[in-house]
Amino acid sequence: MSDRYDCIVIGCGPAGLSAALNLNIRNKSFLILGTKQCSHRLAKAERIDNYLGLPEISGQGLMERYLQHVRSRGIELREERVTAVYPGDGEFAVITGKSQYSARSLIIATGVHIERVLPGENEYLGKGVSYCATCDGPLFREKAVALLDYTGGAAHDEVLFLAGVAKQVYYVLPQRASTAFVHDTSAAAVATVPSLPGNTTLMRGTSLSIKGTETVSSLIVDEQEIAVDGVFILRETQKAENLVPGLATDKKAVAVNGQMETNIAGVFAAGDCTGKPYQLAKATGQGAVAALSAVGYLDKRPK
Ligand SMILES: Cc1cc2nc3c(=O)[nH]c(=O)nc-3n(C[C@H](O)[C@H](O)[C@H](O)COP(=O)(O)OP(=O)(O)OC[C@H]3O[C@@H](n4cnc5c(N)ncnc54)[C@H](O)[C@@H]3O)c2cc1C
Repeated sequence: MSDRYDCIVIGCGPAGLSAALNLNIRNKSFLILGTKQCSHRLAKAERIDNYLGLPEISGQGLMERYLQHVRSRGIELREERVTAVYPGDGEFAVITGKSQYSARSLIIATGVHIERVLPGENEYLGKGVSYCATCDGPLFREKAVALLDYTGGAAHDEVLFLAGVAKQVYYVLPQRASTAFVHDTSAAAVATVPSLPGNTTLMRGTSLSIKGTETVSSLIVDEQEIAVDGVFILRETQKAENLVPGLATDKKAVAVNGQMETNIAGVFAAGDCTGKPYQLAKATGQGAVAALSAVGYLDKRPK
């Protein structure tokens, strides 16, 4: 399925929701794609004291207020994780685990990337390591692949897709030793993983690394070495530059100007993904600016 929009907002945290609200007010056609919890960071905030007008609110409470507000305007949030973006001529193809969409502009509001890069991940990126199962899965027809799911079991569509093309799939649910940024890989969350195809093996491990020579040859899960040709890594928040090829960064954040424009015409960014300070007021403010800039960009171009 392919649908075309004026804008696609990636991420439904405070920055993405603020962008969506402003696109809605400006009567633009848009889609907002995000994860189930919308902002796993905000959900962790016990009490927020610095958000003007809403003193002592909890992160969860504020998220509920945000969602009530956008839903009251008929904005629909689509629970789909974006795995790749392909910029074209004034047009962007946005790929999710479930579908493909096209848009004339993009707002990146994916939050801050806090995951540790795995040993071998950068070295074998494009040489067996990929972040997009539906894009690169067909390259591993009849081969063995691993899917590392850092989303707490939300990668079921990708598992099914890979199981349909690859000979053998190792579906790995990483377990965290640290509790600092734990995603829900608890027994309960794991139990919600629906039944897996016959060529798929469910694994768990705390220490993961990727090995190879020219290309990937194996994945180490704790003490066990598994022979694989490809490793797919799915994270709650991916580095924005890995999602959008050619996107410029500055000190590991998406480089933006005061209008929230990136180096790619038609691509805007807002919130924690643009760097410090990691604050709600900045995220919602930048989301609004990004939307207004996208509106200005769209209005100057023929449909
Ligand atoms: C414990 C804690 C306490 C905090 N307390 C405060 C406070 O008191 N005051 C304050 O101002 N700030 C506070 N913050 C910071 C605040 O939560 C963040 O600044 C804010 O959530 C940033 O909003 P964001 O929309 O940029 O990113 P996020 O809230 O991180 O939302 C981005 C969302 O995009 C989704 N996403 C990422 N990649 C994709 C993709 N490829 N496809 C689809 N969706 C994707 C992610 O799942 C994520 O949910 C706190 C943060 C934490 C962790």
